[in-house]
Amino acid sequence: MPRSLTNGMLILLALIVAASPLLIMRWVVNAHAAAQAQTMLDNLSRRILQHAESTVAEAADALASVAPRLNDSCGPDVRERLSTAVAETTNVRSMFALAADGSIRCASSEIPLHALPNITYRPARHGPLAIGVDKTVDTGRATLYLRWSDGERVLVAVLAPDVHRLDIVPTDWQETAIGLLSFHDGTIAASIPARQSFAGNGSALGGRLFTAETVSESLPLRAAMSLPYETIWASRCSLGLFVEVAGGIMGVAFFALVLNAARRPRTVEDALQRGLRRDEFVPFYQPVFNIQSGKLVGCEVLIRWRRKDGQMIPPGAFIQQAEESGIAVEMTSQLMRKVRDEVAPYYAERPHLKLAFNLFADHFSDLSTEDDIRETFRTGGIRYTQLVFEVTERYPLPNLNRAKVAISGLQSLGCRVALDDAGTGHGGLAYLQKLGMDQIKIDKLFVDTITASSASSPIVDSLIALGRSLGMEIVAEGVETTEQLTYLKSRGVDCAQGFLFAKPLPGAAYIKLVESLLPARHAAVAEADDLDDAIRRAA
Ligand code: C2E
Ligand code: CA
Ligand code: CA
Repeated sequence: MPRSLTNGMLILLALIVAASPLLIMRWVVNAHAAAQAQTMLDNLSRRILQHAESTVAEAADALASVAPRLNDSCGPDVRERLSTAVAETTNVRSMFALAADGSIRCASSEIPLHALPNITYRPARHGPLAIGVDKTVDTGRATLYLRWSDGERVLVAVLAPDVHRLDIVPTDWQETAIGLLSFHDGTIAASIPARQSFAGNGSALGGRLFTAETVSESLPLRAAMSLPYETIWASRCSLGLFVEVAGGIMGVAFFALVLNAARRPRTVEDALQRGLRRDEFVPFYQPVFNIQSGKLVGCEVLIRWRRKDGQMIPPGAFIQQAEESGIAVEMTSQLMRKVRDEVAPYYAERPHLKLAFNLFADHFSDLSTEDDIRETFRTGGIRYTQLVFEVTERYPLPNLNRAKVAISGLQSLGCRVALDDAGTGHGGLAYLQKLGMDQIKIDKLFVDTITASSASSPIVDSLIALGRSLGMEIVAEGVETTEQLTYLKSRGVDCAQGFLFAKPLPGAAYIKLVESLLPARHAAVAEADDLDDAIRRAA
């Protein structure tokens, strides 16, 4: 998959993950607000209906109580009875006894009415009651007509259940909530709040409405409460702000987490590639001394991986993977440039000081190695004659002929080539003869066999003899004790490096050592014994 596409998809994925906390939290808060609103609307519609039912029940009781005591006349005693019954209720405004033709026979008050308005009465489920509303007075206020009849007598009570009162609705809903008390056929009996000519279908408010409805079991009435969604969202405003802020913060955190997790290298190769891009590979310098003269003759450059978190990783942990993942050559080029930039001025002033680099097998099958090295050290002041390139015997070189060409190329520049880890591996004598090396480095493995108790070390001796017979310079690695130094010196070994003298040093420490052991003005003709000095320092 192309890298740009992978990155695009990665960012898309990170954005989706980042948006999810906000969306989920919004959804949860909205669902919670909606559930709460639904419960409140249910309660409100139930209260409206209960209020209407109890008002009607009160009126029905009043009608039932006066009915048996009515006679056909409409004298003062009958009117008195009617008005007393009205006075004893809270919501009944007036009461009428009707004649068989519907005309008013007797009224609780002396109102100049001959007939009641034309009302459609809907019967209650049981009993002698029917109920209607006067649609000619559309104020939104309930003026209900309750008709009681036992077949002979007909009584009507006019009542006004106070269902339009707003105080049952929470304050922040009062602007937009709508309550409706209506008959089963849809005719509106009353509304909350009371509105002049209220259309009665909620469309006056626009938008989507939340609605709850309660249906009466005894009367042909139902009550409904509606609230626009916007009011519900607004009512969870403070929580909503919290959700937006918290969701936003979590989103940013999720975004960073996903990107970070996805960009974290999955393999050692990925990590090495990234280390290379971030310039995390740094040179350390292990001083090399001429043990016959005691002079500092240069150093071996040893790579370290300094991670972003400051951790320092030794080459044993990554060198092989670097080679296998094909970044070895680029890694070495980067290292050489860093070394050049760091030590060139000090090397320019000290033409005999050597700088040894470890190369990979790939360097000897790749014919651009010579060009690369020429180009790197063309500027800066380090002479090609100051460079030593080490090729390890530990792993086989795939193509000896090519390696020979590469080595000759380097030698023709004036560089020297050393056989590293001599005696440990595959090449042996064939390498030395065929490849025409200038130097042999005896591995620490063999130097370790020189102990205080052993009189001689046959392998070290034979390697020295081999090197000498081929006219090569001999360098011993990993010298840790004075016994080893004495032994190597007595066998005529030219140079050595090891913890006895110095560990691999960071650039600044190595430069300090160079400056103190080889002051620039004396560099060419230094007289002091650097080796003794170095041993004193290392101790
Ligand atoms: P090497 O080329 O044999 O390097 C010598 C190793 O021995 C270094 O280990 C050095 O720190 C260690 N050493 C030197 N003197 C003593 C001593 O007295 N006692 C002990 N115990 N150790 C001593 P280091 O730096 O860990 O490097 C390990 C290996 O990694 C090197 O072995 C070399 O093969 C490889 N390496 C290091 N840097 C590079 C590089 O830039 N390129 C390549 N191709 N290989 C490298
Ligand atoms: Ca080496
Ligand atoms: Ca070695």
